[in-house]
Amino acid sequence: MVHSDHLLKDFKLRSTPTRQEILHLFLKKEYALSHGDIENEVSSSLDRVTVYRTLKTFLDKGLIHKVLDDEGSLKYALCTEACSETGHHHDHVHFKCLKCGQTNCLQIEVPSVKLPKGYKPKEVNLLIQGICEHCS
Ligand SMILES: [Zn+2]
Ligand SMILES: [Zn+2]
Ligand SMILES: [Zn+2]
Repeated sequence: MVHSDHLLKDFKLRSTPTRQEILHLFLKKEYALSHGDIENEVSSSLDRVTVYRTLKTFLDKGLIHKVLDDEGSLKYALCTEACSETGHHHDHVHFKCLKCGQTNCLQIEVPSVKLPKGYKPKEVNLLIQGICEHCS
């Protein structure tokens, strides 16, 4: 397993207990995490603002990406490809399990969609809902 400390170093982020703790959580869990999930798991000394700031830093540096949920709640998952400060480079499918409620990144590319003239895509999100491999 990748150590959170090494990962922070790779992304040229100063290692702080907060960053380590939150990153460790992402490495430990295999599914996307919401703000609430993170707040429930990390030590109570971390307030909402600290969690929010840390997630923002990870997002900006290309360590994690946003995962849109059907309920409109935002979740986050680790980036697996070459993401960095300059941007995120992946358009993969997300899968939400209706049984366990977990949302996972699938290493499948979102099929390209032909848009009407004048429309320019910037970000593509595809959420498939169903039953995951653990629940089926
Ligand atoms: Zn990314
Ligand atoms: Zn499931
Ligand atoms: Zn993803």
